[in-house]
Order: sequence, then C-alpha cells, then structure tokens
Amino acid sequence: MVVSPPRSPAADALISQQHVQLARMLGQARGKVSERCMYYRKPPKGVEAGWIVVQGTNAERQAGLFMKGFVPLQQYGFVNPQSVEAPDPEADNAPAYRTWAPILLKPGGPEEFPVSQLIEMRWYDARYCPVPGVRFPQLEGASLTKFWCPECETIYYHKAIHLARHLRSSHEWDRAEIGAYGQEAGINFAKEASEGRAAVEAFEYSMPAATPEPALPPIQMDVEEFRAPRRASNKETR
Ligand SMILES: [Zn+2]
Repeated sequence: MVVSPPRSPAADALISQQHVQLARMLGQARGKVSERCMYYRKPPKGVEAGWIVVQGTNAERQAGLFMKGFVPLQQYGFVNPQSVEAPDPEADNAPAYRTWAPILLKPGGPEEFPVSQLIEMRWYDARYCPVPGVRFPQLEGASLTKFWCPECETIYYHKAIHLARHLRSSHEWDRAEIGAYGQEAGINFAKEASEGRAAVEAFEYSMPAATPEPALPPIQMDVEEFRAPRRASNKETR
C-alpha cells in the first residue's frame, strides 16, 4: 500500500470537488421529477458493491431494480431531492445534503454505508460529509490510500486506476509514462487496477472436430416407372 506524503492543509482544501459530485450523482434518481424516490442498496457483488443510492419507486422501475438485485431501504422513507433543508444552502455540499440527510440523521442510517463508498465520497472527512459530525463506526480501523496527482498536486484519488485515468485524460500521459511514474512512486498500476485478481485470465476454446457425415450406401431398389403416353393437345386434334 502506498501512502503519499502529507500535503499542506491549504493544498488539501483545493482538492477537486469530484467526491461532492459523486455524492450528488448517486443521490440523483434518474427519471421523472414527479417520481417518488427512496434509498436502495446495490447488489453485494460487482461495481459499487453494497453502495447506497437513490432511485425512483415506480412499479416498473422497481421491478427492473429488483431483477438486478437492488434492495429497498423503506425504513428511511421517501427522499425528495428537491427539498431544501440544508443548514447552509450556499455550502458546496448543500445539494448532497438534501438527498443524504434523511438516512444520515436516522439512527442506524450512517452504519448502512459500506466503507468503500465512504472512502470514495470522502465522508470519512467531516468537511465533505453532507451532515457534518456524523459518526461512521464501520470506519474504525479502516485504512485508505491517497494517490496524489504528480501534475496538479492538489488532486488525489483513492484508487490507482482513477489516477491513471486522470493522468491520461487531463495530462495526456501515455501508458509508458504512467508505468514509469508508477515504478518511481512505487505504485503497481496493473496490480492496483485488478485489486488482487489475476489481471490476465487464460481461456482456451476449441471447437469440436467436425465429423463428416457418414456416406450412406446407395439404396438399391427396383423402380417401376409408369409414364402415360403424351396426349395430343385439343388444338392438334381439331
Ligand atoms: Zn492532475
């Protein structure tokens, strides 16, 4: 695990607002504005395993979500992303507050969030949590890694793959440059990206050999043919 050297508080404050956008995005149900929304837990496997998100409650939408393995969390009631209840509507995280306050303010609510989501949304830091002062007991003893961008120096990511993507898209680094930086900084981008799983999975597929159709012996049979003599047409007989 690579932990970057500590930055100054000033640099830390300049960190990109991506985590706030993430919290906003996860809290924004896609669909009709009039649709009532609630919290759901995402399936326990796959991307964002077990994360809490906001989605609509129309029967058709719910049927689709259930098929995917989403679990509704009715105990926190309906969520209205439009309601303004933030203590400071001007604050950067006010839009996130609107959707996340109902669950964060209810007993047992903060405990619903998996550590990976708290890290990605940076709610482990009270400054970025929409409801400051909320305690997340599941973070006790958790460790996190910050991969700082060597170009911006004010942006960090919790996953090496996200830093690699940022270096490629924002700074036009190529694969070789990213690999070289990884060697220098002690980040194994390939290993981090695969999260311990084998990055390369061998798979062999071979078609079964085509077996030729067995040649059938010609059928011996007597053929008796009946063929009526060609009848002269009416025209010819007249
Ligand atoms: Zn950068």
